[in-house]
Amino acid sequence: MLTMIPQLVIGAADLAAAFLFMYGLQRMSSPATAPSGIFVAGIGMLAAVLASFLYVFSVNAAAQPHLGVNITLALIALALGGGAAWWSGRKVALTAMPQMVALYNGMGGGAAGSIAAVELFGNKGHGLAQLGVTLLGALIGAVSLSGSLIAWAKLDGVIHKPLRVRGQQIFNGVVLLATLAVGGYLIFALQGGTDTLITPMITMSRLIYLFFGFALLYGVLMTLPIGGADMPVVISIYNAFTGLAVGLEGFVLQNPALMIAGMVVGAAGTLLTLLMAKAMNRSVGNVLFTNFGGASKRKRSHIKGSLKPTEAADAGIFMRYAKSVIIVPGYGLAAAQGQQKLYEFVKLLQVSGVSVKFAIHPVAGRMPGQMDVLLAEAGVPYDLIFQLDDINEEFKTTDVALVIGANDVVNTEARTDKSSPIFGMPILNADQAKKVYVVKRGQGKGYAGIVNPLFYADNCNMVYGDAAAVLAKMIEAVRGLSAQAA
Ligand code: NAP
Repeated sequence: MLTMIPQLVIGAADLAAAFLFMYGLQRMSSPATAPSGIFVAGIGMLAAVLASFLYVFSVNAAAQPHLGVNITLALIALALGGGAAWWSGRKVALTAMPQMVALYNGMGGGAAGSIAAVELFGNKGHGLAQLGVTLLGALIGAVSLSGSLIAWAKLDGVIHKPLRVRGQQIFNGVVLLATLAVGGYLIFALQGGTDTLITPMITMSRLIYLFFGFALLYGVLMTLPIGGADMPVVISIYNAFTGLAVGLEGFVLQNPALMIAGMVVGAAGTLLTLLMAKAMNRSVGNVLFTNFGGASKRKRSHIKGSLKPTEAADAGIFMRYAKSVIIVPGYGLAAAQGQQKLYEFVKLLQVSGVSVKFAIHPVAGRMPGQMDVLLAEAGVPYDLIFQLDDINEEFKTTDVALVIGANDVVNTEARTDKSSPIFGMPILNADQAKKVYVVKRGQGKGYAGIVNPLFYADNCNMVYGDAAAVLAKMIEAVRGLSAQAA
Protein backbone atom coordinates (compact mmCIF):
# COMPACT_ATOMS: atom_id res chain seq x y z
CA MET A 1 0.00 0.00 0.00
CA LEU A 2 2.73 2.42 1.01
CA THR A 3 4.61 1.76 -2.23
CA MET A 4 1.58 3.20 -4.04
CA ILE A 5 2.14 6.68 -2.58
CA PRO A 6 2.03 8.88 -5.67
CA GLN A 7 4.91 11.17 -6.59
CA LEU A 8 2.39 13.99 -6.51
CA VAL A 9 2.15 13.87 -2.69
CA ILE A 10 5.95 13.88 -2.37
CA GLY A 11 6.21 16.76 -4.83
CA ALA A 12 3.53 18.70 -2.90
CA ALA A 13 5.36 18.11 0.41
CA ASP A 14 8.64 19.30 -1.19
CA LEU A 15 6.93 22.37 -2.60
CA ALA A 16 5.33 23.14 0.77
CA ALA A 17 8.75 22.79 2.44
CA ALA A 18 10.35 25.14 -0.10
CA PHE A 19 7.59 27.72 0.36
CA LEU A 20 7.81 27.51 4.16
CA PHE A 21 11.63 27.92 4.11
CA MET A 22 11.37 31.09 2.05
CA TYR A 23 8.38 32.52 3.92
CA GLY A 24 10.11 31.75 7.23
CA LEU A 25 13.28 33.50 6.04
CA GLN A 26 11.29 36.53 4.93
CA ARG A 27 9.69 36.77 8.40
CA MET A 28 13.14 36.61 10.01
CA SER A 29 13.99 40.00 8.50
CA SER A 30 12.26 41.84 11.37
CA PRO A 31 12.68 41.22 15.11
CA ALA A 32 8.90 41.47 15.49
CA THR A 33 8.21 38.55 13.15
CA ALA A 34 11.47 36.60 13.55
CA PRO A 35 10.24 34.12 16.22
CA SER A 36 7.29 33.09 14.04
CA GLY A 37 9.67 32.96 11.02
CA ILE A 38 11.82 30.41 12.81
CA PHE A 39 8.70 28.39 13.67
CA VAL A 40 7.46 28.51 10.05
CA ALA A 41 10.89 27.38 8.73
CA GLY A 42 10.85 24.56 11.33
CA ILE A 43 7.49 23.33 9.96
CA GLY A 44 9.10 23.48 6.49
CA MET A 45 11.90 21.26 7.73
CA LEU A 46 9.31 18.82 9.10
CA ALA A 47 7.60 18.74 5.68
CA ALA A 48 10.97 18.05 4.01
CA VAL A 49 11.69 15.17 6.41
CA LEU A 50 8.22 13.70 5.80
CA ALA A 51 8.73 14.02 2.03
CA SER A 52 12.02 12.09 2.37
CA PHE A 53 10.31 9.25 4.28
CA LEU A 54 7.46 9.17 1.74
CA TYR A 55 10.04 8.96 -1.02
CA VAL A 56 11.79 6.02 0.62
CA PHE A 57 8.48 4.17 1.03
CA SER A 58 7.46 4.91 -2.55
CA VAL A 59 10.55 3.26 -4.02
CA ASN A 60 10.23 -0.45 -4.78
CA ALA A 61 11.07 -2.34 -1.56
CA ALA A 62 12.94 -5.01 -3.56
CA ALA A 63 15.47 -2.35 -4.59
CA GLN A 64 16.13 -1.52 -0.93
CA PRO A 65 17.32 -4.69 0.81
CA HIS A 66 18.21 -2.82 4.03
CA LEU A 67 15.06 -0.69 4.20
CA GLY A 68 14.09 -1.72 7.76
CA VAL A 69 17.58 -1.11 9.16
CA ASN A 70 17.93 2.21 7.34
CA ILE A 71 14.57 3.51 8.57
CA THR A 72 15.46 2.51 12.14
CA LEU A 73 18.84 4.25 11.88
CA ALA A 74 17.21 7.38 10.42
CA LEU A 75 14.65 7.47 13.24
CA ILE A 76 17.38 7.05 15.88
CA ALA A 77 19.41 9.84 14.23
CA LEU A 78 16.35 12.11 14.15
CA ALA A 79 15.56 11.43 17.81
CA LEU A 80 19.18 12.00 18.91
CA GLY A 81 19.74 15.09 16.72
CA GLY A 82 16.32 16.59 17.44
CA GLY A 83 16.64 15.90 21.18
CA ALA A 84 20.13 17.41 21.40
CA ALA A 85 19.06 20.48 19.39
CA TRP A 86 15.95 20.97 21.56
CA TRP A 87 17.98 20.69 24.76
CA SER A 88 20.85 22.94 23.63
CA GLY A 89 18.48 25.47 22.02
CA ARG A 90 16.65 25.94 25.32
CA LYS A 91 19.80 26.03 27.43
CA VAL A 92 22.19 28.18 25.40
CA ALA A 93 22.93 31.72 26.64
CA LEU A 94 22.40 34.50 24.11
CA THR A 95 26.11 35.34 24.19
CA ALA A 96 26.95 31.71 23.30
CA MET A 97 24.69 31.78 20.24
CA PRO A 98 27.61 32.24 17.77
CA GLN A 99 29.19 29.02 19.09
CA MET A 100 25.93 27.14 18.65
CA VAL A 101 25.48 28.46 15.11
CA ALA A 102 29.06 27.39 14.34
CA LEU A 103 28.32 23.86 15.52
CA TYR A 104 25.06 23.65 13.55
CA ASN A 105 26.80 24.92 10.41
CA GLY A 106 29.48 22.31 10.82
CA MET A 107 26.87 19.59 11.15
CA GLY A 108 25.14 20.77 7.96
CA GLY A 109 28.47 20.63 6.12
CA GLY A 110 29.17 17.20 7.64
CA ALA A 111 25.74 15.94 6.53
CA ALA A 112 26.36 17.11 2.96
CA GLY A 113 29.83 15.50 3.02
CA SER A 114 28.29 12.25 4.33
CA ILE A 115 25.75 12.13 1.48
CA ALA A 116 28.64 12.56 -0.95
CA ALA A 117 30.62 9.82 0.83
CA VAL A 118 27.70 7.37 0.45
CA GLU A 119 27.51 8.17 -3.26
CA LEU A 120 31.27 7.85 -3.79
CA PHE A 121 31.87 4.70 -1.74
CA GLY A 122 28.71 3.15 -3.27
CA ASN A 123 30.18 3.89 -6.73
CA LYS A 124 26.69 4.16 -8.21
CA GLY A 125 27.63 4.61 -11.83
CA HIS A 126 27.26 8.40 -11.95
CA GLY A 127 28.32 10.34 -15.03
CA LEU A 128 31.05 12.98 -15.24
CA ALA A 129 28.84 15.96 -14.30
CA GLN A 130 27.18 14.22 -11.36
CA LEU A 131 30.51 13.03 -9.98
CA GLY A 132 31.89 16.53 -10.33
CA VAL A 133 28.95 17.97 -8.39
CA THR A 134 29.22 15.22 -5.74
CA LEU A 135 32.91 15.91 -5.17
CA LEU A 136 32.45 19.67 -5.13
CA GLY A 137 29.71 19.28 -2.50
CA ALA A 138 31.96 16.87 -0.58
CA LEU A 139 34.85 19.34 -0.62
CA ILE A 140 32.77 22.33 0.48
CA GLY A 141 30.88 20.28 3.09
CA ALA A 142 34.07 18.83 4.59
CA VAL A 143 35.80 22.24 4.70
CA SER A 144 32.71 23.70 6.34
CA LEU A 145 32.63 20.89 8.94
CA SER A 146 36.24 21.11 10.10
CA GLY A 147 36.41 24.91 9.69
CA SER A 148 33.24 25.40 11.75
CA LEU A 149 34.60 23.19 14.52
CA ILE A 150 37.73 25.36 14.71
CA ALA A 151 35.49 28.46 14.68
CA TRP A 152 33.50 26.99 17.58
CA ALA A 153 36.72 26.19 19.49
CA LYS A 154 37.95 29.78 19.06
CA LEU A 155 34.68 31.38 20.10
CA ASP A 156 34.37 29.08 23.08
CA GLY A 157 37.90 29.87 24.23
CA VAL A 158 39.14 26.29 23.68
CA ILE A 159 41.67 27.71 21.20
CA HIS A 160 42.96 31.02 22.53
CA LYS A 161 45.19 32.44 19.84
CA PRO A 162 45.22 32.53 16.05
CA LEU A 163 47.91 30.14 14.80
CA ARG A 164 50.08 31.86 12.25
CA VAL A 165 53.37 30.63 10.78
CA ARG A 166 55.53 31.78 7.89
CA GLY A 167 54.48 30.44 4.51
CA GLN A 168 51.11 29.35 5.89
CA GLN A 169 49.06 30.62 2.93
CA ILE A 170 51.39 28.77 0.52
CA PHE A 171 51.09 25.54 2.52
CA ASN A 172 47.30 25.94 2.61
CA GLY A 173 47.33 26.46 -1.17
CA VAL A 174 49.32 23.23 -1.62
CA VAL A 175 46.82 21.27 0.53
CA LEU A 176 43.92 22.71 -1.49
CA LEU A 177 45.65 21.79 -4.77
CA ALA A 178 46.31 18.26 -3.51
CA THR A 179 42.60 17.92 -2.57
CA LEU A 180 41.56 19.12 -6.01
CA ALA A 181 44.03 16.77 -7.71
CA VAL A 182 42.76 13.70 -5.83
CA GLY A 183 39.15 14.81 -6.44
CA GLY A 184 39.86 15.35 -10.15
CA TYR A 185 41.35 11.89 -10.42
CA LEU A 186 38.33 10.36 -8.64
CA ILE A 187 35.90 12.05 -11.03
CA PHE A 188 37.50 10.37 -14.02
CA ALA A 189 38.28 7.06 -12.33
CA LEU A 190 34.79 6.48 -10.90
CA GLN A 191 32.87 7.34 -14.07
CA GLY A 192 30.17 4.84 -15.00
CA GLY A 193 30.78 2.80 -11.88
CA THR A 194 34.18 1.38 -12.87
CA ASP A 195 36.92 1.13 -10.27
CA THR A 196 40.21 1.92 -11.93
CA LEU A 197 42.99 0.79 -9.65
CA ILE A 198 46.31 2.55 -9.90
CA THR A 199 48.21 -0.05 -7.92
CA PRO A 200 46.92 -2.77 -5.57
CA MET A 201 47.95 -0.48 -2.71
CA ILE A 202 46.10 2.60 -3.96
CA THR A 203 42.51 1.47 -4.00
CA MET A 204 39.60 3.71 -4.89
CA SER A 205 38.26 3.75 -1.34
CA ARG A 206 41.67 4.78 -0.01
CA LEU A 207 41.70 7.66 -2.47
CA ILE A 208 38.23 8.71 -1.30
CA TYR A 209 39.47 8.68 2.31
CA LEU A 210 42.50 10.71 1.22
CA PHE A 211 40.25 13.23 -0.53
CA PHE A 212 38.11 13.72 2.59
CA GLY A 213 41.24 13.83 4.78
CA PHE A 214 42.76 16.62 2.67
CA ALA A 215 39.47 18.54 2.53
CA LEU A 216 39.01 18.35 6.32
CA LEU A 217 42.63 19.40 6.84
CA TYR A 218 42.13 22.38 4.53
CA GLY A 219 39.13 23.56 6.60
CA VAL A 220 41.28 23.42 9.76
CA LEU A 221 44.27 25.17 8.15
CA MET A 222 42.11 27.87 6.57
CA THR A 223 40.45 28.77 9.89
CA LEU A 224 43.37 28.50 12.34
CA PRO A 225 45.10 31.79 11.37
CA ILE A 226 41.91 33.89 11.55
CA GLY A 227 41.48 35.95 14.74
CA GLY A 228 38.75 34.83 17.18
CA ALA A 229 36.90 38.13 16.85
CA ASP A 230 36.47 37.61 13.10
CA MET A 231 34.76 34.30 13.70
CA PRO A 232 31.17 35.63 13.27
CA VAL A 233 31.98 36.59 9.67
CA VAL A 234 33.77 33.27 9.14
CA ILE A 235 30.73 31.42 10.52
CA SER A 236 28.55 33.30 8.08
CA ILE A 237 30.88 32.24 5.24
CA TYR A 238 30.69 28.61 6.39
CA ASN A 239 26.93 28.99 6.58
CA ALA A 240 26.94 29.92 2.89
CA PHE A 241 29.33 27.01 2.17
CA THR A 242 27.08 24.55 3.98
CA GLY A 243 24.05 25.73 2.01
CA LEU A 244 25.95 25.34 -1.24
CA ALA A 245 27.18 21.85 -0.31
CA VAL A 246 23.66 20.74 0.69
CA GLY A 247 22.22 22.18 -2.54
CA LEU A 248 24.83 20.33 -4.64
CA GLU A 249 24.16 17.03 -2.89
CA GLY A 250 20.41 17.66 -3.32
CA PHE A 251 21.14 17.82 -7.04
CA VAL A 252 23.02 14.51 -6.88
CA LEU A 253 20.10 12.85 -5.05
CA GLN A 254 17.58 14.71 -7.25
CA ASN A 255 15.87 15.83 -4.03
CA PRO A 256 14.08 19.20 -4.62
CA ALA A 257 13.68 20.04 -0.91
CA LEU A 258 17.43 19.62 -0.34
CA MET A 259 18.26 21.64 -3.44
CA ILE A 260 15.97 24.52 -2.45
CA ALA A 261 16.93 24.50 1.24
CA GLY A 262 20.60 24.47 0.23
CA MET A 263 20.19 27.32 -2.22
CA VAL A 264 18.20 29.43 0.28
CA VAL A 265 20.83 28.90 3.00
CA GLY A 266 23.68 29.46 0.53
CA ALA A 267 22.19 32.69 -0.80
CA ALA A 268 21.21 33.99 2.66
CA GLY A 269 24.66 33.14 4.06
CA THR A 270 26.41 34.88 1.17
CA LEU A 271 24.27 38.01 1.53
CA LEU A 272 24.79 38.07 5.28
CA THR A 273 28.56 37.72 4.84
CA LEU A 274 28.64 40.60 2.36
CA LEU A 275 26.41 42.80 4.55
CA MET A 276 28.56 42.15 7.63
CA ALA A 277 31.74 42.89 5.70
CA LYS A 278 30.17 46.08 4.25
CA ALA A 279 28.93 47.28 7.64
CA MET A 280 32.49 46.86 8.97
CA ASN A 281 33.91 48.50 5.83
CA ARG A 282 36.07 45.46 5.15
CA SER A 283 36.25 42.98 2.32
CA VAL A 284 35.64 39.27 2.85
CA GLY A 285 39.24 38.67 1.67
CA ASN A 286 40.45 41.04 4.37
CA VAL A 287 38.58 39.00 7.00
CA LEU A 288 39.98 35.70 5.72
CA PHE A 289 43.56 36.66 5.03
CA THR A 290 44.60 39.48 7.38
CA ASN A 291 45.32 39.83 11.06
CA PHE A 292 42.65 42.33 12.10
CA GLY A 293 42.34 44.01 15.49
CA GLY A 294 44.42 41.87 17.83
CA ALA A 295 47.83 43.21 16.81
CA SER A 296 47.02 46.94 16.96
CA LYS A 297 50.04 48.78 18.35
CA ARG A 298 48.71 52.29 17.76
CA LYS A 299 49.32 54.74 20.56
CA ARG A 300 46.72 57.26 21.67
CA SER A 301 49.07 60.22 21.30
CA HIS A 302 46.83 61.61 18.55
CA ILE A 303 43.91 61.78 20.97
CA LYS A 304 43.23 64.96 22.96
CA GLY A 305 41.46 65.21 26.30
CA SER A 306 41.23 62.87 29.26
CA LEU A 307 39.03 60.13 30.61
CA LYS A 308 36.54 61.59 33.09
CA PRO A 309 35.01 58.96 35.39
CA THR A 310 31.71 59.64 37.10
CA GLU A 311 29.40 57.77 39.46
CA ALA A 312 26.57 55.62 38.13
CA ALA A 313 24.10 57.34 40.48
CA ASP A 314 25.05 60.83 39.19
CA ALA A 315 24.67 59.72 35.58
CA GLY A 316 21.31 58.11 36.34
CA ILE A 317 19.97 61.25 38.01
CA PHE A 318 21.26 63.45 35.15
CA MET A 319 19.31 61.33 32.67
CA ARG A 320 16.20 61.47 34.88
CA TYR A 321 16.16 65.25 34.33
CA ALA A 322 16.99 65.13 30.61
CA LYS A 323 14.36 65.59 27.90
CA SER A 324 15.73 62.98 25.54
CA VAL A 325 18.08 60.00 25.80
CA ILE A 326 19.36 57.73 23.05
CA ILE A 327 20.80 54.42 24.20
CA VAL A 328 23.54 52.71 22.18
CA PRO A 329 23.83 49.07 23.27
CA GLY A 330 26.88 46.99 22.36
CA TYR A 331 28.59 43.69 22.97
CA GLY A 332 29.25 44.48 26.66
CA LEU A 333 25.51 44.68 27.40
CA ALA A 334 25.08 41.15 26.06
CA ALA A 335 28.16 39.95 27.95
CA ALA A 336 26.77 41.45 31.19
CA GLN A 337 23.24 40.17 30.46
CA GLY A 338 22.09 43.63 31.49
CA GLN A 339 19.12 43.92 29.11
CA GLN A 340 16.39 43.44 31.74
CA LYS A 341 17.97 46.04 34.04
CA LEU A 342 18.35 48.39 31.08
CA TYR A 343 14.66 48.22 30.22
CA GLU A 344 13.76 48.66 33.90
CA PHE A 345 15.86 51.85 33.90
CA VAL A 346 14.26 53.01 30.64
CA LYS A 347 10.76 52.58 32.08
CA LEU A 348 11.74 54.72 35.08
CA LEU A 349 12.97 57.46 32.74
CA GLN A 350 9.79 57.26 30.68
CA VAL A 351 7.62 57.60 33.77
CA SER A 352 9.56 60.81 34.49
CA GLY A 353 8.71 62.12 31.02
CA VAL A 354 12.05 61.45 29.33
CA SER A 355 11.89 60.46 25.65
CA VAL A 356 14.02 57.30 25.25
CA LYS A 357 15.10 55.62 22.03
CA PHE A 358 17.51 52.81 21.20
CA ALA A 359 20.02 53.15 18.35
CA ILE A 360 21.24 49.89 16.83
CA HIS A 361 24.38 49.61 14.74
CA PRO A 362 24.25 46.83 12.11
CA VAL A 363 27.34 45.11 13.56
CA ALA A 364 26.87 45.88 17.26
CA GLY A 365 27.58 42.80 19.37
CA ARG A 366 29.01 39.67 17.86
CA MET A 367 26.19 38.41 15.67
CA PRO A 368 23.94 40.20 13.19
CA GLY A 369 20.74 41.22 14.95
CA GLN A 370 22.15 40.34 18.39
CA MET A 371 21.11 43.66 19.92
CA ASP A 372 17.59 43.45 18.48
CA VAL A 373 17.20 39.97 19.95
CA LEU A 374 18.64 41.09 23.28
CA LEU A 375 16.22 44.02 23.58
CA ALA A 376 13.28 41.91 22.37
CA GLU A 377 14.15 39.37 25.06
CA ALA A 378 13.85 42.12 27.70
CA GLY A 379 10.46 43.17 26.29
CA VAL A 380 11.57 46.54 24.83
CA PRO A 381 8.80 47.64 22.39
CA TYR A 382 9.93 47.62 18.74
CA ASP A 383 8.85 51.22 18.19
CA LEU A 384 11.62 52.37 20.57
CA ILE A 385 14.30 50.61 18.49
CA PHE A 386 15.88 52.42 15.54
CA GLN A 387 18.50 51.32 13.04
CA LEU A 388 21.55 53.50 12.27
CA ASP A 389 20.23 55.35 9.22
CA ASP A 390 16.91 56.13 10.88
CA ILE A 391 18.30 57.71 14.05
CA ASN A 392 21.77 59.06 13.32
CA GLU A 393 20.54 62.58 12.56
CA GLU A 394 18.75 62.75 15.93
CA PHE A 395 21.85 62.58 18.14
CA LYS A 396 22.69 66.26 17.62
CA THR A 397 19.34 67.34 19.08
CA THR A 398 19.47 64.81 21.93
CA ASP A 399 20.38 65.61 25.53
CA VAL A 400 22.13 62.36 26.45
CA ALA A 401 23.66 59.45 24.56
CA LEU A 402 24.04 56.45 26.88
CA VAL A 403 26.65 54.12 25.34
CA ILE A 404 26.41 50.85 27.16
CA GLY A 405 28.99 48.12 26.53
CA ALA A 406 29.59 49.52 23.03
CA ASN A 407 32.88 50.81 21.70
CA ASP A 408 33.75 50.40 18.00
CA VAL A 409 30.26 51.31 16.82
CA VAL A 410 30.70 54.83 18.29
CA ASN A 411 34.43 55.22 17.55
CA THR A 412 34.88 58.63 15.90
CA GLU A 413 38.19 57.52 14.39
CA ALA A 414 36.13 55.76 11.73
CA ARG A 415 35.18 59.20 10.39
CA THR A 416 38.47 61.02 10.60
CA ASP A 417 41.52 58.76 10.74
CA LYS A 418 42.47 57.23 7.40
CA SER A 419 45.04 54.98 9.07
CA SER A 420 42.44 53.45 11.40
CA PRO A 421 41.40 49.86 10.66
CA ILE A 422 37.77 50.95 10.93
CA PHE A 423 38.12 54.06 8.75
CA GLY A 424 35.00 54.42 6.63
CA MET A 425 32.79 52.23 8.83
CA PRO A 426 29.52 54.08 9.45
CA ILE A 427 29.21 54.81 13.18
CA LEU A 428 26.41 55.96 15.45
CA ASN A 429 26.81 59.71 16.06
CA ALA A 430 26.74 59.40 19.88
CA ASP A 431 29.50 62.04 20.13
CA GLN A 432 27.09 64.66 18.75
CA ALA A 433 24.71 64.43 21.73
CA LYS A 434 24.98 67.22 24.29
CA LYS A 435 26.18 64.77 26.94
CA VAL A 436 27.59 61.25 26.56
CA TYR A 437 27.84 58.56 29.24
CA VAL A 438 29.87 55.46 28.39
CA VAL A 439 29.34 52.40 30.56
CA LYS A 440 32.18 49.85 30.45
CA ARG A 441 34.27 47.93 32.95
CA GLY A 442 37.60 49.66 32.41
CA GLN A 443 39.93 50.57 29.58
CA GLY A 444 39.33 47.44 27.56
CA LYS A 445 39.34 47.92 23.82
CA GLY A 446 36.58 46.85 21.48
CA TYR A 447 36.65 44.17 18.84
CA ALA A 448 38.87 46.23 16.50
CA GLY A 449 41.46 46.63 19.29
CA ILE A 450 41.75 50.41 18.99
CA VAL A 451 41.40 53.41 21.28
CA ASN A 452 38.20 55.44 21.06
CA PRO A 453 38.64 59.27 20.99
CA LEU A 454 34.98 59.70 22.01
CA PHE A 455 35.83 58.54 25.53
CA TYR A 456 38.27 61.50 25.88
CA ALA A 457 35.88 64.12 24.49
CA ASP A 458 34.79 67.09 26.64
CA ASN A 459 31.12 66.09 26.63
CA CYS A 460 31.84 62.49 27.65
CA ASN A 461 31.96 60.83 31.07
CA MET A 462 32.94 57.25 31.79
CA VAL A 463 30.84 55.15 34.16
CA TYR A 464 33.05 52.20 35.04
CA GLY A 465 31.62 48.84 35.99
CA ASP A 466 29.81 45.81 34.69
CA ALA A 467 26.83 47.01 32.64
CA ALA A 468 24.25 45.16 34.78
CA ALA A 469 25.77 46.41 38.06
CA VAL A 470 25.96 50.01 36.81
CA LEU A 471 22.34 49.89 35.66
CA ALA A 472 21.29 48.53 39.05
CA LYS A 473 22.93 51.58 40.69
CA MET A 474 21.26 53.96 38.21
CA ILE A 475 17.88 52.39 38.94
CA GLU A 476 18.47 52.69 42.67
CA ALA A 477 19.42 56.36 42.36
CA VAL A 478 16.41 57.30 40.23
CA ARG A 479 14.05 55.32 42.48
CA GLY A 480 15.55 57.03 45.52
CA LEU A 481 14.85 60.40 43.92
CA SER A 482 11.22 59.52 43.23
CA ALA A 483 10.83 58.26 46.81
CA GLN A 484 12.17 61.57 48.15
CA ALA A 485 9.78 63.51 45.95
CA ALA A 486 6.78 61.44 47.11
P1 NAP B 1 33.01 46.32 20.99
O1 NAP B 1 33.61 47.33 20.11
O2 NAP B 1 33.55 44.94 20.96
O3 NAP B 1 33.12 46.89 22.49
C1 NAP B 1 32.52 46.25 23.55
C2 NAP B 1 32.94 46.95 24.82
O4 NAP B 1 32.16 46.39 25.85
C3 NAP B 1 34.39 46.74 25.19
O5 NAP B 1 35.14 47.90 24.94
C4 NAP B 1 34.36 46.34 26.67
O6 NAP B 1 35.17 47.27 27.40
C5 NAP B 1 32.89 46.48 27.04
N1 NAP B 1 32.42 45.39 27.89
C6 NAP B 1 32.70 44.08 27.82
N2 NAP B 1 32.07 43.40 28.78
C7 NAP B 1 31.37 44.31 29.49
C8 NAP B 1 30.51 44.23 30.62
N3 NAP B 1 30.26 43.07 31.24
N4 NAP B 1 29.94 45.37 31.07
C9 NAP B 1 30.20 46.56 30.48
N5 NAP B 1 31.00 46.69 29.41
C10 NAP B 1 31.58 45.58 28.93
O7 NAP B 1 31.44 46.17 20.79
P2 NAP B 1 30.46 46.95 19.80
O8 NAP B 1 30.57 48.42 19.98
O9 NAP B 1 29.14 46.28 20.00
O10 NAP B 1 31.02 46.66 18.36
C11 NAP B 1 30.94 45.39 17.77
C12 NAP B 1 32.24 45.07 17.09
O11 NAP B 1 32.21 43.68 16.72
C13 NAP B 1 32.46 45.88 15.83
O12 NAP B 1 33.81 46.20 15.67
C14 NAP B 1 32.02 44.90 14.74
O13 NAP B 1 32.65 45.17 13.50
C15 NAP B 1 32.47 43.59 15.34
N6 NAP B 1 31.75 42.44 14.77
C16 NAP B 1 30.41 42.40 14.85
C17 NAP B 1 29.74 41.36 14.26
C18 NAP B 1 28.24 41.30 14.26
O14 NAP B 1 27.69 40.57 13.48
N7 NAP B 1 27.58 42.04 15.13
C19 NAP B 1 30.45 40.34 13.66
C20 NAP B 1 31.84 40.40 13.64
C21 NAP B 1 32.46 41.46 14.21
P3 NAP B 1 35.71 46.86 28.85
O15 NAP B 1 36.53 45.63 28.65
O16 NAP B 1 36.49 48.03 29.31
O17 NAP B 1 34.52 46.58 29.70
